[in-house]
Amino acid sequence: MRRVYLDNNATTAVAPEVFEAMTPYLLEDFGNASSIHWYGQRAKAAIEVSREQLARLLSARPSEVVFTSGGTESDNAALVGIVEAARSEKKHVITTTIEHNAVLHTAKALEKRGVRVTYVSVGASGIVNPKDVEKAIEPDTVLISVMHSNNELGTLQPLEEIGRIAREHDVYFHTDAVQSVGKVPINVEKLGVDLLSLSAHKLHGPKGVGALYIRRGTALHPLLYGGHHERDHRPGTENVPGIVGLGKAAELASEHGTNDALQIGALRNRLEEGILKSVPLTSVIGDRSRRVPGTTNISFEYIEGEGFLIAMDLRGIACSTGAACSSGSLEPSHVLTAIGRREQARSSIRFSLGRFNTAEDIDVTLEILPRVVEQLRSLSPHYKKIAVTI
Ligand SMILES: *Cc1c(COP(=O)(O)O)cnc(C)c1O
Repeated sequence: MRRVYLDNNATTAVAPEVFEAMTPYLLEDFGNASSIHWYGQRAKAAIEVSREQLARLLSARPSEVVFTSGGTESDNAALVGIVEAARSEKKHVITTTIEHNAVLHTAKALEKRGVRVTYVSVGASGIVNPKDVEKAIEPDTVLISVMHSNNELGTLQPLEEIGRIAREHDVYFHTDAVQSVGKVPINVEKLGVDLLSLSAHKLHGPKGVGALYIRRGTALHPLLYGGHHERDHRPGTENVPGIVGLGKAAELASEHGTNDALQIGALRNRLEEGILKSVPLTSVIGDRSRRVPGTTNISFEYIEGEGFLIAMDLRGIACSTGAACSSGSLEPSHVLTAIGRREQARSSIRFSLGRFNTAEDIDVTLEILPRVVEQLRSLSPHYKKIAVTI
């Protein structure tokens, strides 16, 4: 059976170039980067090359890049680190209702420690209004955290405007850019961010490694305590093969960026338009003009998302319901709920494309999908009642 992978926002395949770059650091160049001898120095040098590759992708300085175990750790480190380093007694943090759980659940944990958190709400567009962020600022606000693009909708957030607001009010600004790095150009200066989280496995790198950009001069307490690795920001023996893989993935993203975006965007549009045209009672959730190229979230009325996923999977096509991370849970997606689409949350499907998707993938999907929808709808008594009218 031909398999089609349309779940690149959950994770991506490691690029062959990334795999090739990593293997020496699992085999002959296995040294501990803190060791003085030749083995250690080989590992250390490789880490510094990766830091430069990643810094170039972000338009940051290499000294502002700290390697972590992934997006979740970077988000935790940013939120907890800023709050702990803040001198004021009372502390306030601003974030949004559509963040990834790596931010939302960290914010909830901070609330239990006495930190006040404002969750700015977001309308049906899936794009936060910067004015709402500004209105939420209080005298003791220490941090604003707004994601760069949303993992369920693909919607890009107005970070430059929020960055300006944060600067005007002298508040630190963090962004979870896990779903944007490698997909759209990222320039930390232009965005005006002080902290930025990213994860290798979302940009054709390996799992279990990521990074946090920390602007020079940002007061941040570490999450972990131990040795002096990563300039005391992140102790622990470095994941050298993983870091090398992340560096290579970043280099590939710098090289392929625009081409990838054009190709992936064209395929996404072809898939989206194909579905909207061939399947009745479908609509795209969230703003369609301000999105990353590879993501679309489509609501299929009279379809139950989990059943659809399984039926598609049986035919070789992998996609996702809005709530990828909480699959198996019966809770509807917090993102769709937050933007007022709770009633559509159970019937909406996220398709997310990556560098390795082809036109044939889309053709196969467009051939199979309408039949799956028709079959599932034919089992729905509600659909049967209205079917005669369309
Ligand atoms: C995947 C993801 C994360 C978590 O990254 P991990 O490396 O898997 O821990 C955080 N934020 C967003 C928006 C994501 O899509």
